[in-house]
Amino acid sequence: MIEEKMLINGKWVEGEAKDKLEVINPAKGEVFAKVPKSHSADVKKAISAAEEAFESWSKLSPFKRGEYLRKASEIVFERIDEIAKLMTQEEGKPLKEAAGEVRKGANILRYYAEEGERIYGKIIANEEENTESRVIYQPIGVAGAISPWNYPIELLAWKVGGALAAGCTVIAKLPSETPLSPLAFVKCLVDAGVPKGVVNAITGSGSELGPVLFDSKKVKKIAFTGSTETGREVLRGCVDTFKKVSVELGGSLPMVVCKDCNLDMAVKGAVRRSFRNMGQICIAVNRIYVDEDIYEEFLQKFSEETSNLTIGDGLKEDCNLGPMCTLKGLETAKKHIEDAVSKGARTAFGGKKPSGDKYNKGYFFQPTILRDVNHDMLVMQEETFGPVIGVMPFKGADEAIKLANDSPYGLAAIVFTESLSLAKKLSLEIDAGNVAINNVDAGVINAPYGGWKESGFGHEHGPEGLHEYLRIKHVRVHYL
Ligand code: NAD
Repeated sequence: MIEEKMLINGKWVEGEAKDKLEVINPAKGEVFAKVPKSHSADVKKAISAAEEAFESWSKLSPFKRGEYLRKASEIVFERIDEIAKLMTQEEGKPLKEAAGEVRKGANILRYYAEEGERIYGKIIANEEENTESRVIYQPIGVAGAISPWNYPIELLAWKVGGALAAGCTVIAKLPSETPLSPLAFVKCLVDAGVPKGVVNAITGSGSELGPVLFDSKKVKKIAFTGSTETGREVLRGCVDTFKKVSVELGGSLPMVVCKDCNLDMAVKGAVRRSFRNMGQICIAVNRIYVDEDIYEEFLQKFSEETSNLTIGDGLKEDCNLGPMCTLKGLETAKKHIEDAVSKGARTAFGGKKPSGDKYNKGYFFQPTILRDVNHDMLVMQEETFGPVIGVMPFKGADEAIKLANDSPYGLAAIVFTESLSLAKKLSLEIDAGNVAINNVDAGVINAPYGGWKESGFGHEHGPEGLHEYLRIKHVRVHYL
C-alpha cells in the first residue's frame, strides 16, 4: 500500500485530520494507496504560508522565477517513467499515454518559464504635455487551483505554471481520485528549489476544502477545472470575497463530417477523439453529425476502426484503452446507452463490458457507437464523459450548425471539410471557444483555450492563461 503526504509550507505532512482518502486502481477495482483527508485547518495553514511566500516570490524577477520553473521541468522529464506508472495505476490510462501527459506537464512548466519573461506593459500618450499613462501588470496574489482527475498533471500544470510565472503563490486542491501523480509532479517543483509556501498541495474532499479557499480574503484568484455543476458552486462561493475566477467546465463536443471531407482522416480523428482516455476528456467527441450522403459509409468505417482498439490494464500490457477511472462514470455511460436504445437508437459497435477474465474486476467497457440517435436522447444532450458516441445524419450546413449549437455547452467543436468556405462558415457559426478544422486537437499550449456558454469562462494556455494571474494597474505620470 502506497501512503503519501501533502505539501504545506514546504513540509510533507499528514495534516490535522486522521482520516485517509483511499485511491483505487480502476483496472482492478482495488485500493492501492492512501493520502491524507485534510481538514479546513490544513487549508488555512496553506493559505497563510502562500500569503507569506507571496511577499518575496512576487518581487523576484520573472527571469529568476523562470529559472525555478525550467529546473522543475528538467526534473519532471527525468522522472517521466516513475510518475507515469502512478498515473496509470490511479487513472487507468495506458502507460505510454500517461508518459505523454507527464512530458506535457514538463513542457508546460518550460513554456510558462519563458512566457513569464514576456509580460509586457503599455505606454499610452496623454493629451496633456509631459504626461503619459503607463499600464503595468502585477501578480494578483494567492491563487487556489482546483483540478479534476482525468488529466491529473496537465490540468494542474496549466495553473501552477501560469500562476508561478506571473508571481503568484498557489494552493492546489488535488483531485481525490488521482492525487498521486500530481503530488509527484509538485515534488519536482520542491526539488527544483522553489521556496517554501510558494506551492502547497492539499488532498481531501473538494466540497469541504473548496469553501475554505473561497471564503478566505487572502485568496485573490480561483482557477477551477471540473464539471459545470461544481463550477456553479465555485462561482457562488466566490461572490462574497469578489475573487477573480476562471472556470473551465464540462462540454458536449460536436464533430461535423461534411461530404467533401477526407473521410479516412475524419474516421481516424473520430476514433482518437471519441475513445482516447475512454472518452474522459472535456474535449472528447460526444456527438457526430455526418452528411446524410456519407452516413452509412462513415458508420461502417468508424465501427471497423474502433474494432481494432485494444483494451487492457495499461500497466501490464501495450493497449489503446484502459478502464474508466470511476465506477460512477461507468454507470453514466451505461445509463446513456440504455436511454438511447429505449428511445430507438441502435448499437453500431460495443455497448457492453469486454469479455474475458482479465476484465472481471476493473471498470472496463467497450467503446460504443450509437446510430439513429436524436436530440431527445441523453447522449446528445448531456456530457457522457465516457466511451459512448451518438452518430446522426444531417442535410446541409445550416442544419449541422443548428444541431451542433443545440447544447448548453460550448467548449469545442471539430469540423472535417475540404471546402474553404464551409470551414469558414462552420468555424464562425458554431458557438464554441475552440474549433478544430481537419484535425482533432483543439488545444495547444501557446494559444488560448477556454469555453463558451455553460462550459465556463476565462482562459488557460498561452499568454491569456498567464494573464489570469495578473491584474492591471494604470499609472499616470507627469514628468517635471
Ligand atoms: P468535479 O467538478 O466533480 O471535480 C473537480 C474538482 O473539484 C475536484 O478536485 C473536486 O474534488 C473538486 N470539487 C468538488 N466539489 C467541489 C466544491 N463544492 N468546491 C470546490 N471544489 C470542489 O469534476 P470531475 O468529475 O473531477 O471531472 C470531470 C469534469 O471536469 C467533466 O465535466 C469535464 O468536462 C471537466 N473538465 C473540463 C476541462 C476543461 O478544460 N474545460 C478539462 C478537464 C475536465
